[in-house]
Amino acid sequence: MSTNVVQTICPFCGVGCGMYLVIDHGRIAGAEGWPEHPVNRGMLCPKGRFSYALVNRPDRLKYPMRRDGDTWKQISWDDALGMMREHLGPLRERDPDSIYVFASARCTNEESYLAQKFARVVIGTNNVDNCTRMCHAPSGYALTRVFGGGASTNSMDDLEEAGCVLVWGYNPFETHPMLFQHVIAARKAGAKLIVVDPRITQTAKVANLHLQPIPGTDIALLAGMINYVIQTGLLDRKFIERRTEGFEELAKSVELYTLELTSSLTGVPAALIREAALAYGTSPASSILFGMGLTQHVGSTATIAALCQLAVVTGNIGRPGTGVNPARGQNNVQGTVDMGAVPDGLPGGSMSDTSVRTIVEQEWHAPLPQRPGLFATQVWEAAQAGTVKAAYIIGENPVLSEADGAAVVRGLEAMDFVVVQDIFMTETARYADLVLPASLWAEKDGTFTNTERRVQRVRKVVESPEAANRDWRILIDIADALGADWYYRKPEDIFEEIRRVVPAYAGITYPLLNTPGFGLQWPVGEGGDETEILYAERFATPSGKARLSALETVDLTSRLTAEFPFTLITGRLMAQYNTGTMSRRIDQLNRIAPAGYVELNRDDASQIGAVSGDVVRVTSRQGTLIAPARIGTGVPRGFVFIPNHYEDTALNVLVPNDTDPVAHTPAYKGVPVRIEKEEQL
Ligand code: SF4
Repeated sequence: MSTNVVQTICPFCGVGCGMYLVIDHGRIAGAEGWPEHPVNRGMLCPKGRFSYALVNRPDRLKYPMRRDGDTWKQISWDDALGMMREHLGPLRERDPDSIYVFASARCTNEESYLAQKFARVVIGTNNVDNCTRMCHAPSGYALTRVFGGGASTNSMDDLEEAGCVLVWGYNPFETHPMLFQHVIAARKAGAKLIVVDPRITQTAKVANLHLQPIPGTDIALLAGMINYVIQTGLLDRKFIERRTEGFEELAKSVELYTLELTSSLTGVPAALIREAALAYGTSPASSILFGMGLTQHVGSTATIAALCQLAVVTGNIGRPGTGVNPARGQNNVQGTVDMGAVPDGLPGGSMSDTSVRTIVEQEWHAPLPQRPGLFATQVWEAAQAGTVKAAYIIGENPVLSEADGAAVVRGLEAMDFVVVQDIFMTETARYADLVLPASLWAEKDGTFTNTERRVQRVRKVVESPEAANRDWRILIDIADALGADWYYRKPEDIFEEIRRVVPAYAGITYPLLNTPGFGLQWPVGEGGDETEILYAERFATPSGKARLSALETVDLTSRLTAEFPFTLITGRLMAQYNTGTMSRRIDQLNRIAPAGYVELNRDDASQIGAVSGDVVRVTSRQGTLIAPARIGTGVPRGFVFIPNHYEDTALNVLVPNDTDPVAHTPAYKGVPVRIEKEEQL
């Protein structure tokens, strides 16, 4: 056998870089950037570059295993399916809503589609959700509120058409390095770069303007910017007249937000607010990118809706170089939401949309469950209350990823039956009754949808180890064990059904995705016409107009107290990924980012008598974490930063399950904490 390469997509983040996997004598020996791919143009960040190392890991889950006291017993797939039938069957008969399904944004579209169909048709519950609940759910609700649709409006390539790029609550240098290349290209071509972030990030360091609002005051900053735009006539009046409704309501709600008041509320100098509003409002085309610095607050949906309205009143939407673009975290979080793996959505749209319900019911020949499902952030309390008794967790690690980690553990322990389907023995799998061995991206066919709505093929390159199986196949086997008779023989069969129920995917086919090219950006019409820029002619609202409305002001700064005087900011590192299930198993990445830490401002550190390397205790009203201190200039006084990838510095123990009232996403950013130096023994 010789060396050859297979085109596929990086399995890590939502940027969705094209890559070649290098196959040498039947084994994956390397990963290289796909030179012509418009997203990454031949480059890969460290995660993509070393992703191949995951495939041959000796600690992969290889067989189904059931708990046997404190140990695990290897069992056959027949026995595993028997356990699923034996435990889920009676619960389903008594109360389908006593079962919860966690779908995974790491799985393919085909698998996410089956996961939510399994919950709704086989179990009979809307209790299904995915990790979007922890990150970008507010983006979906906010963009839908204003534009009628919940996805990025423009492409990454298109950023380079912008004269001004506004990056809000987002550090693409670390989190999405290949997307950052487009920001840098825009900057080099003359675009003004504005960064809004309390931290002095690497992205902020290359900005023309850096605004550092007090966490939780973003909406006040937006109110001030919108008011300035209105008062100084930087509006696109024609656009407002032709393509929006509700402008008067919006204008009235922000009229008190003078630069001075906004400055006093946000801590950002008035001159800087003015300069940012001018740069954004006067550029012929201004683009917005935002991340979890904006989505992980109580009040995030309202804030992101305000950001969308800034774009609308200045006419920065529906054209090249404009738009509002949430930068999604997981490789397939956009696709998993498109597939309806959320409690209040369906494939193709909202659960409350009768026409969407009708299409899905006709396709499935089954009525949809009537009762609304729980959001992922509501499950653990329900488990402790005894209403949710079983969980089927696919490729997620809530013990480390969800707010109030201790409550997650209590919830898992309270359940009668927990099944975890994953590629490694995760922190969550340790609480399972049954563990099912799944497949990596390189071991299965399917599609991922990246943050710019680009649907791309991932390809099976090697076989899964031992008895590990592809998630779509496992889902079919479990469904059939519980009495379904699913006919899908390959991922393409599932995709054909997706095309019939998700209008945006109607024109996408495997043959089209297999022809040379770089996937297709939805919505795709018959014949394969993709859409790089949304809302060029009309918005996806019933009237076709953007919905402007009064801003809801949310001020969370009062939560700081004398007992908890610091503000915790959480975030990612370039060489690690989410809870580290995958990235912490790659030696090359661990060499770059080996361990967790607490980053403190130099003055704050000296006040508590700590230097870099000292151990500090971080305490919130929720819990305590102990970690080495790192003293730096990246965080302003009064703030601490902790990366969110490491088990021994699992910061979710500090984060209370306080959630956005619309999206039910926890406020991981802005948690009040206190810092103390630990006495060394
Ligand atoms: S930017 Fe994201 S998709 Fe691209 S190589 Fe890095 S982790 Fe993979």
